Amino acid sequence: MITELKRFAAVTLFLFVGFSVNASSGIFSANNEKKISTESGKYRIYDPYAKSQKLTLKGQMHCHTTNSDGKLAPLELCKRYQSIGFDFMTITDHEYITPEPAGNELIWIGNSYENTNGNTPTTSAANYAHICVYDTDSMLLAPNYTKYRSYKTINEVQQFHEVERNEMINLCHPNWSGFYLPDSTMLNCNGHFSFVECWNDGAANDSMKLRTCCRGWDLLLSRGLRVYSLGVDDYHSGNSIGEGWVEVFSNSKSKKTIMNSLSKGNYVAANGKLGINPIVLKSIQLKKNTLHVNIGSPATIRFIGRNGKILKQEDSVTASNYSITGNELYVRVEVWSGVYAKWLQPYFIEKIR
Ligand SMILES: [Zn+2]
Ligand SMILES: [Zn+2]
Repeated sequence: MITELKRFAAVTLFLFVGFSVNASSGIFSANNEKKISTESGKYRIYDPYAKSQKLTLKGQMHCHTTNSDGKLAPLELCKRYQSIGFDFMTITDHEYITPEPAGNELIWIGNSYENTNGNTPTTSAANYAHICVYDTDSMLLAPNYTKYRSYKTINEVQQFHEVERNEMINLCHPNWSGFYLPDSTMLNCNGHFSFVECWNDGAANDSMKLRTCCRGWDLLLSRGLRVYSLGVDDYHSGNSIGEGWVEVFSNSKSKKTIMNSLSKGNYVAANGKLGINPIVLKSIQLKKNTLHVNIGSPATIRFIGRNGKILKQEDSVTASNYSITGNELYVRVEVWSGVYAKWLQPYFIEKIR
């Protein structure tokens, strides 16, 4: 059954698919769009944070239970997230849709699963694709996972979902256990994903910094694709819970408003320990063509553009700003305090002909 929300998600995904985006609809809506003139021409900027919201809600969008290779039962996992202050969640078991467990008290943002098609990163190095499919009633691929062994490329999997056009999808862990998707794979990837992970806690075990997957995100963004990023736990077992999540700015504690904010990029990705990250974002504002970021205590604020280039960085500051010239294609912000980070969603910049 296609719900109202699904139609909304379908429209969103459709807009991601065609990246000459109509200014009057959807993601590039009047609410989020701002026109500027600079010396180099006229531009419009898509501001994911243009709409101010009352609440900040913490959520998990990639985790596993005993329905695949996780150690905790679904309700136990929900209770663990509740105990460390999460507000919403979904469960993404491999090739299995885990429904909301009875007794769950967190906001449930719909049923989801992780589509692996039997791929593991080490067996199909150049092409593996793990994709989380959100708010879905049906398994779109790999109906018989245990027998399914024909490896599917990112493009094949993405195209399948694109044809369906009724799902929000996430390209999981561009790096995983020290293995990195080759640049060529990201450069050849046709994928117009809703999300790509910028932080996956299961992605590497040696150093927290290696768990960032931002290189893949920047490669997609630099090709003009409008893709947001997620911080996730990819939780399976042990105490490494609450080490990657999203903080969604929302007007109410409902699935509908959370999904709406996620589809517009009105959220940040974060890492941390047991759901705690010391970085406090006080304000994120675009005034004229200048992006202002204010934080609670001194940290590094970094503005990043095309090809992952650092446009500006200030260390040990509580505020920084960057004036958009119009030629950046996108500008995104990272705030770092030691091993802790928060990743803002991109400001998309498009020339007006
Ligand atoms: Zn995976
Ligand atoms: Zn996973």
